[in-house]
Amino acid sequence: MAKMLIGGELVDSASGQTYEVRNPATGEVVDKVPKGNEKDVEQAISAAEGAFKEWSDVSAEDRGKMLSNACELIKQKQGDIAQALTKEQGKTLFEAGLEIHHLIHGLEFYAGLASKVRGAHVPLPQKNAYGMVVRQPIGVCAGIVPWNFPLTLMGTKLGPALAAGNTIIVKPASTTPLATLIAIEQIQKATYGEGKQQKTLPKGAVNVVTGPGSTVGEEILRNPRIRRIAFTGSTPVGKHVMEVAGREIKRITLELGGSDPMIVMDDANLDLAIKMADVGRFFNCGQMCLGVKRLFVQESVAESFVGKLTEILKTKTVGNGAAKETRMGPIHIESQRKEIEEQVEDAKSRGAKVVFGGERPKGGDFDKGWFYLPTLLTNVPEDSKVSTEETFGPVLPVFTFKTLDEAIEKANSSIFGLGSSIWTRSLASANRAIDKLQAGNVWVNSLHYGYDELPFGGVKQSGVGREHGPEALDYYLEPKGVVVVNV
Ligand code: NDP
Repeated sequence: MAKMLIGGELVDSASGQTYEVRNPATGEVVDKVPKGNEKDVEQAISAAEGAFKEWSDVSAEDRGKMLSNACELIKQKQGDIAQALTKEQGKTLFEAGLEIHHLIHGLEFYAGLASKVRGAHVPLPQKNAYGMVVRQPIGVCAGIVPWNFPLTLMGTKLGPALAAGNTIIVKPASTTPLATLIAIEQIQKATYGEGKQQKTLPKGAVNVVTGPGSTVGEEILRNPRIRRIAFTGSTPVGKHVMEVAGREIKRITLELGGSDPMIVMDDANLDLAIKMADVGRFFNCGQMCLGVKRLFVQESVAESFVGKLTEILKTKTVGNGAAKETRMGPIHIESQRKEIEEQVEDAKSRGAKVVFGGERPKGGDFDKGWFYLPTLLTNVPEDSKVSTEETFGPVLPVFTFKTLDEAIEKANSSIFGLGSSIWTRSLASANRAIDKLQAGNVWVNSLHYGYDELPFGGVKQSGVGREHGPEALDYYLEPKGVVVVNV
């Protein structure tokens, strides 16, 4: 049975209760996990507070070295982590390997940045005086993580938190705690310093509390001893996080849902755009915040675009993510598949045409898991759910347009504003889209590969604040204004 990590120890929950993690491809139990509650969060906070006293005094250079060593230790368990991730999440082993690669790359990025944090020297009008801006760690942070990318989205929080000198409590999604537990156990073992001076990351600097959002998550939001919360998840839960954490004036960042538009102009490299529409929508079984969720194709090329994309979908092998030949695994949970099915039915009832998919694959092993075929819809009314809501699964609605301004207006008519892309050979069209698309991110002839170098986040109901990039560090440091007067 898996254990939680609190204060450097692998422990059961305070209540002794457990719950089962199941494989979305087979329905089989993968492992049992401690069902934590408020008491376990309290213990983790005490451990993280204790560790903060030591960790915040470690030099920035050594904090970076510790993160580098953590990456090496994660690599040693790469195989086990990938197996656990595929079994608990459903993604293919290839996708699991890519996710671990991203986790390591992200931690290495913050390992490098730890010693590059700068404050400021400020001239003041007063004679014999100057100001400084000193940037200090905040204290105990928490990362609340969803199930679609359990490792990378944990790393985008843990990396900058530790680099800045904070300690952290991670709450994974209830359905995907296993790969996280292996990775964080490795991080807890990481060392810094040479020879006799070598030290291990203080016990309690990283903690994982497993259990439901309604108890473990709520305590993280409420408890005033946690000063900073990084949340990635759905927009409705994000609103709740903002409300509850706001009562204690906690520092929060919210990385929420999206409905990213992909705009394809008739002068684009269409072969590339078709290939990337496939990747952008169906990677990770379409369960990506920054997935292409609305495809806008210029009228003159729409028919051939849809035809060629359909040919790609026909070759996509759906199945258990652990099988070599699988290119798309199951949807992660049953309720998510039900939501997808309702969204597709709603589009159909309003006149949308199912060009491909639109149903579950049937028979044999398919009946054991939460499988759904890659689905392409055309003639989709703009007020249908696949257009107005986030579609968190392998469904792509295609819309057509005559002019770029029309496409931008349609793209912006969403409550979300996470990613977006424009595909064109015209610099003028690209620049207009960069300027006018209401999104935290615009990609030109490209899709987001989870760049650690660039800030990532949303506008409108897609979130608050940024992860990735040096910008993410700003959310883990408090600027302190200092005035020094020579007397
Ligand atoms: P949820 O919002 O349901 O859950 C996210 C996390 O919040 C889970 O760990 C969950 O725990 C926890 N949680 C649930 N209720 C509470 C609560 N009351 N208090 C505190 N924590 C709580 O999202 P999903 O897991 O369904 O993830 C999918 C969503 O995440 C999609 O909308 C997707 O777009 C978004 N996302 C956004 C990204 C971004 O960077 N913008 C990136 C990836 C995903 P539990 O599992 O125990 O319920």
